[in-house]
Amino acid sequence: MLDDRTTHFSYIAMSFVAGAAFVYFLKVIEPLRKPPLRISDKSKTVVLDLDETLIHSSTSAPIFGWFGRVKCVQKTLIFGNQFVRMFIYVRPNLESFLDRVALKYNIIVITAAEKQYAEPIIDMIDQKKRISQKFYRSSCRALGNNVYLKDLSLIGANLKSTVLVDNCETGVRLNPANSIRIKSWTGSPWDSELNKVASILEQIESFEDIREPLVSFVQNAGLGKDE
Ligand SMILES: [Mg+2]
Repeated sequence: MLDDRTTHFSYIAMSFVAGAAFVYFLKVIEPLRKPPLRISDKSKTVVLDLDETLIHSSTSAPIFGWFGRVKCVQKTLIFGNQFVRMFIYVRPNLESFLDRVALKYNIIVITAAEKQYAEPIIDMIDQKKRISQKFYRSSCRALGNNVYLKDLSLIGANLKSTVLVDNCETGVRLNPANSIRIKSWTGSPWDSELNKVASILEQIESFEDIREPLVSFVQNAGLGKDE
C-alpha cells in the first residue's frame, strides 16, 4: 500500500517537473521563433537634418560654464583639402531622443554638408547605430549660391509616412506638409526642443498618413522659433 502511494506521488511529482520543464523550454525558444526586427518592419521614417538640428560645430572651444552641461567632442574634420580642428556640441537630450524615436521610426539623416565633414559627426553621435541611412550634399537639390534644398522625393521617401525635421527654411521648403521646423540650436544648455519633437513623432506614429495630424500637433507642441 505504502509502495503504491509512493509510486503515485512520484508519478505526480515527475509530471509536475516535466510540465514545468516544458513551459520553461517554450519560454527559452520564444525569442528564437520570432523573426528578428528589421528596419523595414517600422512603417514610419523620420529624416533628420544635422547642423543646428542635432549638433552645432564650431572652431571655438566651450566657454566656461558649458562643461558638463553640453556634451562637446573635439574632432579633426576635412573641409575641402584642409584638416580643421572642430568642437562638436551635441544638442541636449539627443541620446534619449534617438532612443525614443528608434522604437517606432526608421531614422535617416540628411545634410547639405559634405560627406567628409558630416559622416564622422553622425558616427560620433550615434554609436548605437540607430541611424540607418545617411544622405549628404549630393542628395540635396542645389539652387545656386551655396543654397541646398532637401527634397524627400530625391531619397525615395513615402510622403505618407515620412517626417522631416530641420531648422532651416531651405530644409523644409519643398516638403512643408511633412516637416517639423525645429528651432536652430547653437549651444544653449537649456534647450529641450528634441523632447518636444519626440513627443510629436510618438503621437502621429499611428496615423496612416502622418501629414493629416502633423500640422496641428506641431502647432500645439510649443516648439521654439528662430528670432
Ligand atoms: Mg541645419
